[in-house]
Amino acid sequence: MAMMPGATNRLLSNQARQGRMKSYQGVCLHTMVGSLAGTDGMFQKDGTVGTESHFGVGEHGEIYQWVDTAYTADANYLGSAHVISIETADYGGSFGRWNTSGDNVPYWNAAQIVSIVKIIAWACKTHDIPIRMMSNSRDVGIGYHAMGVPGNELPNKYKGTRYQWSKYAGKVCPGKKRISQVPEIVKLAQGSPTTPAKPKEGIFGMSKYSGGRIYRAVQHLVKNKWRSLYVGKGAMSILTCDGSPYLAQVYLTVTGLKPDETIQVRFITASYKSGTTTKNNGYYAKQEQHGSAGGTYISHTQIGKTGKGKNGRSNRLRVQVWTDSKTAKITSIQTKFMKG
Ligand SMILES: [Zn+2]
Repeated sequence: MAMMPGATNRLLSNQARQGRMKSYQGVCLHTMVGSLAGTDGMFQKDGTVGTESHFGVGEHGEIYQWVDTAYTADANYLGSAHVISIETADYGGSFGRWNTSGDNVPYWNAAQIVSIVKIIAWACKTHDIPIRMMSNSRDVGIGYHAMGVPGNELPNKYKGTRYQWSKYAGKVCPGKKRISQVPEIVKLAQGSPTTPAKPKEGIFGMSKYSGGRIYRAVQHLVKNKWRSLYVGKGAMSILTCDGSPYLAQVYLTVTGLKPDETIQVRFITASYKSGTTTKNNGYYAKQEQHGSAGGTYISHTQIGKTGKGKNGRSNRLRVQVWTDSKTAKITSIQTKFMKG
């Protein structure tokens, strides 16, 4: 038995007729062209006869487990006995109705990304799969359906092998927008997003995000002390937490940090109420970076979920830095976030 804690148990009937997984090559991301409820209805009606996936992620981040990962699910055609599959909602509700005949699948939203990251982290730990991006359907790690599709990314010579993940040539699943989000999802699952992303791409390449203005005021740092940064004139908070999941990203430009010195960055939550002392009450994992000749450029990404404050207080997300340098200073800061 391999059931993910926290997932809703929606196991299909007759799991055992599927046969056991033969290996755990990786995790494959799919899109439903539908809703979680619609897909669940279809899967439950047919049981494990027909196509199904191990997991489903709904519009609001709901996680359904349809097949125990000890058994195969058919979403990856000839690779099904080697790949754990995750189907994701993309139609109706906040996704709207879009033309399904082309490559128009909308981006995964923040709640879905949080859930996909959780499933990847659990599946990789449970089945000893390295958390890294697959370069093609013959690789190990995290991949997406189109990698194994003939007439898409699968070279013809692999047709008929376990690396063919679809019967249907030219399938675009999960769509170019979602495919563009996979590398950042893998980084989040690894727990330490250290590779800088370009600010112009926004969070996960999504078009909907808040913030994003670059604040250029110089901020001096104090050696060996964590310090909250201003993210705008007179403003330290990136967002006010309301209990829904969020993704936050910060980009920093640092000058005066020598190559043997370090700077650390982390997000924190602070309890705020006008007229009272603000208290820091939650600390996320920090990321460390060494200095370099010239300016040092840092990006840091965090996913989280923080409740509303009580007794008239509210929880605010902020960013802090620490350094062992006497000369380092921040010359620009940009923050972005997505919620819900
Ligand atoms: Zn698919």
